[in-house]
Amino acid sequence: MESSLLQTCTNLIQNAKNIVVLTGAGISTESGIKDFRSQTGIYQMAPEYILSLDNFYQNPDGFYQFAIENLYHPEARPNQGHEILADWENDGKVSHIITQNIDGLHQKAGSKQVIEFHGTMKTASCQKCRKTYNTEEMINRRNTMDEFYVCDHCSTSAKNKRYIKPDVVLFGDTGEWFTMEGFNEIINIIHQADCLLVLGTSLKVTPFSTFPQYRREGTPLIIVNKGDTPFDHNKDSYVIHDSIGETLTTINNHINPPIS
Ligand SMILES: [Zn+2]
Repeated sequence: MESSLLQTCTNLIQNAKNIVVLTGAGISTESGIKDFRSQTGIYQMAPEYILSLDNFYQNPDGFYQFAIENLYHPEARPNQGHEILADWENDGKVSHIITQNIDGLHQKAGSKQVIEFHGTMKTASCQKCRKTYNTEEMINRRNTMDEFYVCDHCSTSAKNKRYIKPDVVLFGDTGEWFTMEGFNEIINIIHQADCLLVLGTSLKVTPFSTFPQYRREGTPLIIVNKGDTPFDHNKDSYVIHDSIGETLTTINNHINPPIS
């Protein structure tokens, strides 16, 4: 074990029985997916307007083109970080993952209790009748139809009321979890945690960034992130500025030594 900090974090995780994990872009960049906000992230090439609800309704075809090219990564594979979290859930150690990511990699790795706080790029839904379409189906429709983004399941309504929108939470949008009920459920989950593990997010975007403050007093907050977060200097924070995959592998090898 390289450092006493890593040793401390290993002990905390080893003894925890109800870890809640908050994840952001940093865990997906290790699978080759571009980070939204980093130097090389897509906001360097596109203003937030592109990902707004207004833009979607004004230019649905352009929106789909951008989303398919930049936000949809069906080829991406989970990395060691995703896989270790799935193992820990399987072992009864991790209770929930609350993620900002829209790539579905936690589920691909086998995690089951995943809250996709910003939605998913896997599907799209009619804004009128809520019929769900796979993104693959939307890509096929786009290749073969002019108004591919208009739902044909609820054809009695006005066209612009039945647009099929990717199930990602856009700026100006409200997602499945952006309700009082959704919030309360998340707060309750965090309140029950005996350890909070924050991976690959700078905790700068509200309301996701407020979640750590709902942990019970004294609950350790382990942060693995390349950059700083507003919680770095809290009394019970343990901050590791390193790769998520490597850090979790080191910790996991101590908790579950590989059979040689
Ligand atoms: Zn519809």
